[in-house]
Amino acid sequence: MDCIFCMIAEGKIPSKKVYEDSDILAFHDINPQAPVHVLVIPKTHICCLDAINSENSDIVKKIFEKIPEIAKQAGITNGYRLISNCGEDACQTVKHLHFHILGGCKMQERMI
Ligand code: AMP
Ligand code: ZN
Repeated sequence: MDCIFCMIAEGKIPSKKVYEDSDILAFHDINPQAPVHVLVIPKTHICCLDAINSENSDIVKKIFEKIPEIAKQAGITNGYRLISNCGEDACQTVKHLHFHILGGCKMQERMI
């Protein structure tokens, strides 16, 4: 499958890893939008939030359980924002479920 995040998960494309286990990979975003910008992905291909269902939601639970540890591991000490873009209107560019952890500064723009 021609999916850049699957290739990163398989080690075929290098990444700056923050955390890895058998199901999850967290790595620094190549184009950071904050002093700390980490992406957390399931190693299995799920295209986006819209594709989460009762068959595959265990990995989402696992990701959310690990996010505090990943944020800490990335050096975030004073809070962070978690974002997952889903679909065209949200400007999702990589069609493999991922969660952006943004931190290391006071967020300026209020998106929500
Ligand atoms: P989104 O726009 O929510 O789909 O986010 C995709 C993110 O993936 C963007 O923030 C990109 O900078 C990031 N990205 C794309 N290719 C790579 C890569 N090879 N390594 C790390 N981050 C990447
Ligand atoms: Zn993929």
